This record gives sequence, C-alpha cells and structure tokens, in this order.
Amino acid sequence: MKPNIKILATGGTIAGSAKLSTTTTGYKAGALGIDSLINAVPEIHEFANVTGEQICSIDSKDITDEIWLTLAKRINEIFSRDEADGIVITHGTDTLEETAYFLNLTVHSDKPVVLTGAMRPATAISSDGSINLLNAVRVAVNKNSFGKGVLVALNDEINSAREVMKTNTLTVSTFRNFEFGLLGCINDGTPEFYRTSTRRHTSNSEFDIDGLTELPRVKIIYGHAGDDEIFIDAAINAGVKGIVYAGMGNGSIHANAEKFLARATDQGIVVIRSSRCSGGSVIPAEKSYVDENFLDGDNLSPHKARILLQLALTKTTDRSEIQRMFNQY
Ligand code: ASP
Repeated sequence: MKPNIKILATGGTIAGSAKLSTTTTGYKAGALGIDSLINAVPEIHEFANVTGEQICSIDSKDITDEIWLTLAKRINEIFSRDEADGIVITHGTDTLEETAYFLNLTVHSDKPVVLTGAMRPATAISSDGSINLLNAVRVAVNKNSFGKGVLVALNDEINSAREVMKTNTLTVSTFRNFEFGLLGCINDGTPEFYRTSTRRHTSNSEFDIDGLTELPRVKIIYGHAGDDEIFIDAAINAGVKGIVYAGMGNGSIHANAEKFLARATDQGIVVIRSSRCSGGSVIPAEKSYVDENFLDGDNLSPHKARILLQLALTKTTDRSEIQRMFNQY
C-alpha cells in the first residue's frame, strides 16, 4: 500500500508565474494553487496517495506568526487524526528556513515533515519546482526520514531545519549548511541519509502552541560599526519581550549599544547575543555580558534565535531556563 502524503501549500516561487519563460525575477509568487502544482508532477502518484491543501498563497517574505501557528496546529491535527503518513510543505525560499525551524520545535510527531520550494518560477525554463516537489515526496515516504526532525529538501539535497540557511539570492543551490553539512542527498531519486542533528526537536520538544493565538514580540537588532541606541530604545518603547542582538564575531556588542541593552534586561526584556557571522557558536565572553544578564545564542542564526526565544517566552521569563533551551534546541 502506498503511503498517504498531504501537501500543504503556502505560495512562493514554486507556485510563481511569470509572463516569459526566460523570467526568473519580477514574477508573481504564490500565483498557482496546490492542484496546479500536483498536476504538474503526475510522477508523485507512483510514490504516494497525495492530497493537497492550500494554507495560504503568499510570497514568503510576508510570512507571519499567525500563519506559523495555523500551519503547526494543522500538522499536529493531521498526525493526531492519522490523516497522513507524512507531510510536504511548499514554501517560498526567502523564509523557508524560519518556518522549518518553527515547525521543528512545535510539531509533535516523528513522522516526516519536509519543506520544499523553488528558485525559478513554475513558468521558467528549467524550473526547479517540479523535481523539488517530487523529491520532497520521495523523502516524505522514505522510512529513514522518520524521527529526523523537520527536513528541507531542494536541489537533490536534504538539510536539517535547525541548520539550513538560504545562502545565495539567486542560485538553485542556495540552501546550505556550511558548518555541519547535509543530512543526506537524493541520489537519482533515492534519498540517502548520512547523519542526524543531535538537538531536541519535534516529538522531543517541550513547546506547545495548541492554545496560542499569538507569539511574544521579539526583534532582531543588527550590530554594526558606529552602532548606537536608536533601535534598542525603539524596541524597549514598543514593549518587546525579547531582543536578539546580531553581534560582531562571538556576539560582541558595540559599547554604544551595550549600555542600552543592559537597560533592556533591567526592564525584564530577555536579550540573546547572536552573531552576524555565518558560522560558529556564540559562547560566554566578556564578564560584563554575564553581569548584564545577556544570554548566549549558540550557533543559531539571529532569525532562528528569534524563533526559539519567542517559543521560550511562551513558557517562562526565567533566564537560566531560557539559556537551557538555547543549549538544547
Ligand atoms: N520571494 C519568494 C518567496 O520567498 C522567493 C522564492 O520562493 O524563491 O516566496
């Protein structure tokens, strides 16, 4: 018997439509519905009984916490009702890694959840959407995909939601994880895994979004030469619950910004030190950072640190508990 796979569509370039087959920018993302995507790849029916559901039709730059909550709740519902053996999500590539990490922390199942997308619109010559969708279904039905956390499958490669990053604005080989490498590849249509991510995820995650309709407000502030207090002040005045500071190197903070971040922690705002670097962990450094109660963001990108902090703040404001979470997820 073929497995049941549910495809949840959210829009993006994979559903993008342009006037010319030579156009790979300036098209309308999310223009095609889920049925068009499925009908374009009849080969997927060889591998699974596929049904589709349209969650939204957006350019993923416009993703919201509300859509994330809807998506996570729907996936948990599908699995708890045994409506599918695995889920594929079609998504724009711009924020794909953020949605993947959010789901990695909020879906409570070992069944495969695989995100895919495309860099070229469906109407382009050599569009990558159809092969990516077919491969995502192949990954979702593969028994080795169980228990690996939320997966990202594009360009014949399988990455972990926690580690993957969009690294190039245009190329089809954009999804990479420079430090730890791929989880696996799709070799001529067959998924092969070579390693797993060791951090807590999915069925081993403590985060429960079931009763939530919104997430705590957390902003990212990007450190730079000549930095100052402007955005920190604005964030404090806006009543944010957390700030991720994308610092220099090992989460270093410009002196002009540091005293204002300290003011934020004094007011109960949780501050995570993260890094502008594309690799390496942020670990305890200056004594002043410890004294000022800043927490260390490990090797999460600033935008993934923001997601973990949002979820952490749904459970606690205790800084040592939040640091534990950053050490575990
Ligand atoms: N702007 C598009 C999106 O993220 C880009 C893409 O899907 O490749 O929806």
